[in-house]
Amino acid sequence: MKKLVLSLVTVVLSVLVVAPVYADASTEYFRWPAEGTVTSEYGMRWGDMHEGIDIAKKGDVPVTAAYSGYVTRSTEMNGYGNIITIRHKIGGDTYETAYAHLRSKAVSVGDYVDIGDFIGWMGNTGDSSGQHLHFEVHKPSWRNSTNPRDYLGSRAGVLDGTEFNPTNGSYGYVQIDTSPEYGVNVYDAPNGDFVKRVPGQSVYGVYAKEDGYYNLGGNQWVKEGSVNFKRFRAYVNYDHRYGVNVYDAPSSNGDFIKKVSGNDVFNVYEYRNGYYNLGAGQWVKGDNLLIIKPLFN
Ligand SMILES: [Zn+2]
Repeated sequence: MKKLVLSLVTVVLSVLVVAPVYADASTEYFRWPAEGTVTSEYGMRWGDMHEGIDIAKKGDVPVTAAYSGYVTRSTEMNGYGNIITIRHKIGGDTYETAYAHLRSKAVSVGDYVDIGDFIGWMGNTGDSSGQHLHFEVHKPSWRNSTNPRDYLGSRAGVLDGTEFNPTNGSYGYVQIDTSPEYGVNVYDAPNGDFVKRVPGQSVYGVYAKEDGYYNLGGNQWVKEGSVNFKRFRAYVNYDHRYGVNVYDAPSSNGDFIKKVSGNDVFNVYEYRNGYYNLGAGQWVKGDNLLIIKPLFN
């Protein structure tokens, strides 16, 4: 009996010791908002408070929402340059994240964004020397900054920003929604015969959807419920002052219809011959769009 009591005490103590570790881990709500190197941390810097962290990278670097929520600011602010703030509700708490020095802004006040959604390009506007993202986390709201590091998990989920080169006929991707060792069955038709098994977490282009099955190219179909589908999303690869031409066919023989503005985001309905179908017979040349790799949460 004494032994049992002792081991119970041990168990209770272990739980008490372990619990805070879990509590820390559970605050890692936010996805890293950009690729790059952290060049400056949160805290006192040159006698001033640095209210966020700086993430720097050269080139065209997409900035994405660290968590789902509503856009509360999309403006130009002294020092911050082009800045976007987003309000998040997580459990019973409210947070506001800020993304500053942007080259351009792709969302407006009141917009709802999902975690990982593109919100603008990393830039060098405002009081900034060299392109970087200044990222802040406020709790519960603006002007109550806290260390973003406390809320950022591993960098595994960072959008890689690589351009996709989809194959003819595709319009999105699926990721197999099981553990890696489990996987799902591939059939030769919707409700057809078993062909093979593909591993969980693997990613495939999607060419069609019929009767609750996605086509992965050729005679390979997977059931809708076992995969996570993401349509390609196209971002016009110029800032708002420019636009790109829209044609009525996926070739240089297509007729000009109109111009669409830079920073706009479109669903892609098909990729063909280097052109993307933005719906309703509107085609844009691939060079003018950046297709962001779909994110799987
Ligand atoms: Zn900064």
